[in-house]
Amino acid sequence: MERKQVVCGNWKMYKTSQEAVDYINRLAPLVTASKSNVLLSVPFTSITKAVSAAQNTKITIGAQNIHPELEGAFTGEISSIMLRAEGADFVVIGHSERRQLFKETDEFINKKVIRSLEDDLIPILCVGETAKQREENQTEKLLQDQLEKGLKKIPESGAQDLIVAYEPVWAIGTGHVATPEMAQEAHAFIRKVLTSVFSKKVAQKIPILYGGSVKPNNFKKIIEQKDIDGALVGGASLEPETFAQIVNLG
Ligand code: PEP
Repeated sequence: MERKQVVCGNWKMYKTSQEAVDYINRLAPLVTASKSNVLLSVPFTSITKAVSAAQNTKITIGAQNIHPELEGAFTGEISSIMLRAEGADFVVIGHSERRQLFKETDEFINKKVIRSLEDDLIPILCVGETAKQREENQTEKLLQDQLEKGLKKIPESGAQDLIVAYEPVWAIGTGHVATPEMAQEAHAFIRKVLTSVFSKKVAQKIPILYGGSVKPNNFKKIIEQKDIDGALVGGASLEPETFAQIVNLG
């Protein structure tokens, strides 16, 4: 089964819009031959200029968050329609930083996934356990819970566009990357849960990305794993040359 391969940079709260344009101009010529789809999840303020800079390149621009409502009294929030109007094509949903720092629940995350699919934004749903949950052998239970709740009421047709990212919280921004075997084990389990939520046919098509301290020197072994279809890259996506090295290993 051929699955879409995806490498997505997650810039978090880094880069002004001008820095985004300069970055894309440097990255674009470095990834022209890449087998992977190249995605950049940029701050809201950079989306318009980033979309314009990425035209006629292999790079697709998306956002790091949305609000589930289309409009209303939600000070500081951004809706799917606003993102589409600026040319964003995808959105990262349920990143562990949003779950932990902004107290997002699985129910709220589910509403965002539903909204993004309704409005033609590809959702990248992030799931992953903390160090404590792994120590207590709760990883599978937690992943199953986050997936079942986060994907509630999503029809099979919507699942065709879904991307899932497995991001063990203990590996994000820490330099402690999961071993390829550990990541493969979690990805295989995620695919098993996706098979029970949707169907085998659909679950086989959903790209599952690994995220957590991916670097040019550790990605090769990770991407060789059967159920790993790419990466969500934080820190190592901030320099275009480093990010291009990762993209080109895929
Ligand atoms: C992330 O932000 O999703 C991430 C995986 O960060 P890092 O690559 O820096 O661990």
